[in-house]
Parts: sequence; C-alpha cells; structure tokens
Amino acid sequence: MSAAAPPAVDPAAVEEMAREAAAWCALHGLVVGDRANPRSATVPGVGLVHAPFSLLPARLPEHFWRQASELAPIFNELVDRVSLDGDFLQYSLSKTRQVDDFTSRLLEIHRKMMETNKKENIRLGLHRSDYMLDSETRSLLQIELNTISASFPGLGSLVSELHRTLINQYGHLLSLEPKRVPGNAASSKFAEALAKAWAEFNVDSAVVMMIIQPEERNMYDQYWLTKHLKESYGVTSIRKTLSQVEAEGKVLPDGTLLVDSKQVAVVYYRAGYTPNDYPSEAEWSARLLIEQSSAVKCPSISYHLVGTKKIQQELAKPNVLERFFENKEDIAKLRKCFAGLWGLDDEEIIKTAIEKPELFVLKPQREGGGNNIYGLDLRETLTILQKEGGDARAAYILMQRIFPEASLAYLVRDGICHEGLVISELGIYGAYLRNKDKVVINDQSGYLMRTKVSSSDEGGVAAGFAVLDSLYLT
Ligand code: ADP
Ligand code: MG
Ligand code: MG
Repeated sequence: MSAAAPPAVDPAAVEEMAREAAAWCALHGLVVGDRANPRSATVPGVGLVHAPFSLLPARLPEHFWRQASELAPIFNELVDRVSLDGDFLQYSLSKTRQVDDFTSRLLEIHRKMMETNKKENIRLGLHRSDYMLDSETRSLLQIELNTISASFPGLGSLVSELHRTLINQYGHLLSLEPKRVPGNAASSKFAEALAKAWAEFNVDSAVVMMIIQPEERNMYDQYWLTKHLKESYGVTSIRKTLSQVEAEGKVLPDGTLLVDSKQVAVVYYRAGYTPNDYPSEAEWSARLLIEQSSAVKCPSISYHLVGTKKIQQELAKPNVLERFFENKEDIAKLRKCFAGLWGLDDEEIIKTAIEKPELFVLKPQREGGGNNIYGLDLRETLTILQKEGGDARAAYILMQRIFPEASLAYLVRDGICHEGLVISELGIYGAYLRNKDKVVINDQSGYLMRTKVSSSDEGGVAAGFAVLDSLYLT
C-alpha cells in the first residue's frame, strides 16, 4: 500500500485541493469533535472539525484487495464458531486472567453465562479485520481482528466518496481514475445488519441501544449509523453510557431488557472495550445485566473474548483452526494471512526478541491504540518479565513486526496539509447475523484505510496517530 500522489503535483494545486477537501468534509459530515473545544465531546453540533484525512487514496494491488475481501466472511464464521466453544475461551485465557484484571472480569461474566447455560439465538457480529502489506514477503498479514466497537464505518465510507470527488475534479492533474476507488458501503451495511438483527428480534416498539463513552469526540461516526437506521429502516436508537444503563436498566423475569422504560432489541457497543470504560462497579453490573438479558448483543461476551489478542495468538497455533473448520481451503486462506504470533511461554522467542526487538511487537490484552510496546522498551519489558519469571508474562503476546513500504502522501489535519512518508493499514469490515441455524448475513461490508507517518509505531485515528484514507486499486 502506498500513496497515489504522483511526484510532480504543483504545490499550489495541492493547497487548493486540501481546502476544497476540508470544505467537502464540513458539508458532508466527515467531521469529529475538536479537541480545542471542551464541549465537543459531549454536546452534539458543537466544536466540529473535519476528520483528519489523506488527500489522495492509498494504492493497493487489486489481488490483495480481493484476498482481504474474501477473508471477511471466513473470519465472521470463525468468530461465531469459536464463540460457541466456551471451554476453549476459558482455557486459552486462564493464565491471562490471573495477571490481567480486565480480562479476568470479562471471563467472569462469560463463566456466569456458561453456568446458567445461556444461549444466544440471535448473534450479531460487526467486525473489522486489519491488515498490513509486508514489503519483504509481499504478503498481506493480519494485524488484528476487532470484534467490539470497530470504529469508522460511518466516516470511512465518506472518505472514499471524498477521494472520488477530488479525482473527478482534479483527475487531469493527477492521472488518476475515480472508478479505481472501490465503493465503500460500510455505513449502510452496518446499519442494515443492526436493522436486520432488530427485525429478527421482532418487537416493533423495541429500540437499538448504542453503548457510548460519556465523552466521545467520534460521535458523528456513530450518528451516521443512527441516521441510516432511522431513515432506511424506521428503527429508533438510544444512546446510553454503561453507568446510565446501571441506573435506568432492568431485566424482567422473561429476559426483556428495559432501559429508561424502553425495551431494547439490540445493544451495540461503542464503549466497553477498555478498562477505562469501567471506572466503578456500576459499569460492570451494567455489562452483566445486558449479558443476562435476551437482547441481541453486538458483541456478546463470547464474541468480545474471541477478539482478544491472546485468542488471535492461540488460533495461529498449529492444528487449532482445524478444531473449528473442516474446509481445508478456508483454513489455508486464514493461515496465509497470519503473521508470526507467540505466547510468552516460549523461551526461545523471548531470547530472540530481546536480541532483535526491532523485529517484534509486544502486545498486552488491550484495545483502542497506544498500548503496544516496541524497540528498546520491548527489550526492557521482556528482560524484566524474564527475570521475574512466573505468570506476569501471560498478560502479553509477541507478534512479528510487519514492515509496509513507505511512500509520500499529503495528510490534512486541522486544515493544514503536510507532506510525509507514510504507511497504511487496511481494515475490512464484516457483518454476520445468525438466528439459530439460519445465517441471515455473512458479508464483507466495506473497508477502512488508515494512513500514518511511517515513524509512528501506533495506528489509531482517534488516538491521534493516523488519518482516514481510502483505496486506489492498481
Ligand atoms: P489495537 O487493538 O490497540 O488497535 P493493534 O494490534 O491494532 O491494537 O495495534 C495498534 C497499532 O500498532 C496498529 O494499528 C499498527 O499500526 C501497529 N501494529 C500492531 N501490530 C503490528 C505489527 N505486527 N507490525 C507492525 N505494526 C503493528
Ligand atoms: Mg483492536
Ligand atoms: Mg488496531
């Protein structure tokens, strides 16, 4: 993946394009709350700024695009099958739970559901599988699979539209063709999946409840789904924090979830993936309450756990995929995109990583960006963990570091256009909906490209490392 900017675009033309593009963002809702305005994270419509974006789409050979797209339904199915094997989840995470309090709390809820033999008939997954193109091996390797709060289905679709618009207008200067930017329906596809889950639940007066953080600068990404739900399907959504659910929610004896006296058909989490979202016991009670109810959870506690880094690493071990799939072709496709992944019970790999830390990434069981350990910090952390010995290591996994090829691109942030050496990460959204034996949806559901300066280790857009981007197929 490399940026599509041809070498000799006149700087004045770039500047003009960046201004046009930023205005387009404001006109089309490609916006986030502005850090500079303290009210922007709590009051809708206040303190908006265009989302950070790349001026032109990132290049990607078409066969990688096809490969990543084909993987989406296979990963969707994998998540569903692994989620049904409660013992596998409990066992694989048993050491991690002893040293990681957050994972331990999630597993406790999961164990309670296993004990009461709780069945989820309607299962909804809205995932995003992220990839980087490794320059040395020319292979597309998975970074991670997000099964909770996969962000930017709303804004990501708009970036593709922005890029097509710019190429239409300036294509003659750029020698680019708009049709090479693939259409991106992430926003409407996710809304469709939520609406169909609501329809399977089959209570006309029930609502979709979005679980949100008390402060959310990325609220417009979420409001795009709300809008599609209402306008295309007539489905009403409500927005609640976990602490509000604790205060206003209850579960009736038949499993009905009522929040603020409204029956909830589908719970869609855009919070709850980090320990910061559980500052007190109230939030944990809310999570448990929702799990005990008959509402459709996106994700359920077991879908959530399947998306942990530890499970990613367990699934990459020899003969583990075979537990969940019979189809050899599917297994081969999955395995082809797995990078090197190791648990820290492997002494050999720890030694190698201490010697060559630049070839590895050390990951704790966290989500949301900014948590991984690289380079000299990685060496130091591993050295300490090795000296201490024992269980503390189970909180981490080691991953082969992937090195995408860097190229020049224009990144626009806060109305200012910078040129920089960048690398990109491709996310493919997947939607999966099942009611008992009936698979209602199993689709690739759009994409998200994120681009960051190549000197930055981390990649989150919301965390401030990356910008939103789209794709240019070559
Ligand atoms: P999170 O769940 O916090 O998003 P990720 O596993 O996606 O965790 O890691 C965050 C970022 O770190 C990624 O977006 C990517 O930029 C970078 N990263 C993660 N794993 C690797 C890797 N194996 N090689 C290179 N960069 C990586
Ligand atoms: Mg993640
Ligand atoms: Mg990530």
